[in-house]
Amino acid sequence: MTTTSTSRPFSSSSGPSRAVRIGGTDAQALVTSSRDGGARPWRDEDGAGDPDVERRLRALVDRPWTFVRQVHGDRVVVVERPAGPLDEEADALVTASPGACVAVLGADCALVGLASAEGVVGVAHAGWRGLVAGVLERTVETMRSLGASEVEAVLGPCIHAECYEFGRDELDTVAAVLGDEVRAETSSGRPALDLPLGVRASLARASVAVTAELGGCTACGADWYSYRARGDGSRHALAVWRDVPVPGARS
Ligand SMILES: [Zn+2]
Repeated sequence: MTTTSTSRPFSSSSGPSRAVRIGGTDAQALVTSSRDGGARPWRDEDGAGDPDVERRLRALVDRPWTFVRQVHGDRVVVVERPAGPLDEEADALVTASPGACVAVLGADCALVGLASAEGVVGVAHAGWRGLVAGVLERTVETMRSLGASEVEAVLGPCIHAECYEFGRDELDTVAAVLGDEVRAETSSGRPALDLPLGVRASLARASVAVTAELGGCTACGADWYSYRARGDGSRHALAVWRDVPVPGARS
């Protein structure tokens, strides 16, 4: 597909200038957009690694991007060293390895980037099931077990309340865990889940503040993939890495 470049902030620039610093740390976060192409690192037909995706992602951040196979749960993987996609089922990655780049995929679910001044970083994929399961709290706990004290977060694009009609029973389930403030309405007045607010509520329990939002609603915004609005099979990605020299790495 050919697209014409416009002044949209996530599509008009490329390279490191698109990255944002996470709070006061030396960690950077970057979200791929639909204009970068899908970021799913495995080929659908055989589950093998996709060299085309790897090449496109490394043009954005020239490190191996570590993904896991996301399952809407609360398992956190600790990444010991820079690596490509891991054949493990989990929904969050945490690392203290300075050369690692950890990433999660989304097409409506919230993608959260986390970092601490101690050099421990993480990413998490959180839909409503993951939030209820406590994936964000598990991720922050794991970062603290590796030496993080104060943790700061950025929130990537996700589906927003105006587009996220939600069943009343499921809304009760989420509100029972995260509080009644997650109850919202769609633009047509139907019951809705406020997913960004749910993310903030979950992080607040772990004493983590969101310092920036890197994109808006996946369903009504043009720059993102949305499974719910368009049945997209592709995914955008949120990557986090530390902006520090890596011994032995290519410059
Ligand atoms: Zn929307």
